[in-house]
Amino acid sequence: MSHAWIALGSNLGDSGALLDEALEQIAQLPDSQLLASSARYRTAPIGGPEQPDYLNAACLIDTHLEPTELLQALQQIEQSAGRERHERWGPRTLDLDIIAIDNLLSTDPILTLPHPRAHQRAFVLYPLADLSPRPLIAGHNVQHWLDLVADQAIKRLPD
Ligand code: ATP
Ligand code: MG
Ligand code: MG
Repeated sequence: MSHAWIALGSNLGDSGALLDEALEQIAQLPDSQLLASSARYRTAPIGGPEQPDYLNAACLIDTHLEPTELLQALQQIEQSAGRERHERWGPRTLDLDIIAIDNLLSTDPILTLPHPRAHQRAFVLYPLADLSPRPLIAGHNVQHWLDLVADQAIKRLPD
């Protein structure tokens, strides 16, 4: 069994319902178990074109899936949410990124672990901080990186 931390984001369509549905589908992944999910956060977009604010969350699963199997399964869930890929960092109905799998390191562009931009993003770090255990990212804990993104606008939504 491996721990996998997954970041969820949406800024098109009914983002709340899309994240609910995504979490249900993640909970039903084969050979996997949903262990914890974070609060929801409203965040301003970073990079890409002008676009609506995001709704973000994170979850932690235990899984026997191989890393590439997990990535493919998550991409299928993105597809089922109507994800279309146009410009880089453009608006999307659902983005599911693998932030880390145990302490695996991968530089493969198909699946880079830990996610190479996770530690720069409040919209990933705040939801991760709700989970236990939390991943190590580039040798530091989530709190270390959180202290460095204090300038990024993020709002925790009530449960
Ligand atoms: P960002 O990676 O900056 O968050 P994005 O999530 O918008 O951008 P996508 O269009 O969702 O980017 O994914 C582009 C590619 O990133 C995917 O085809 C996938 O193979 C690759 N990728 C590499 N590492 C990861 C990872 N840890 N989690 C998810 N996708 C990854
Ligand atoms: Mg992403
Ligand atoms: Mg992605």
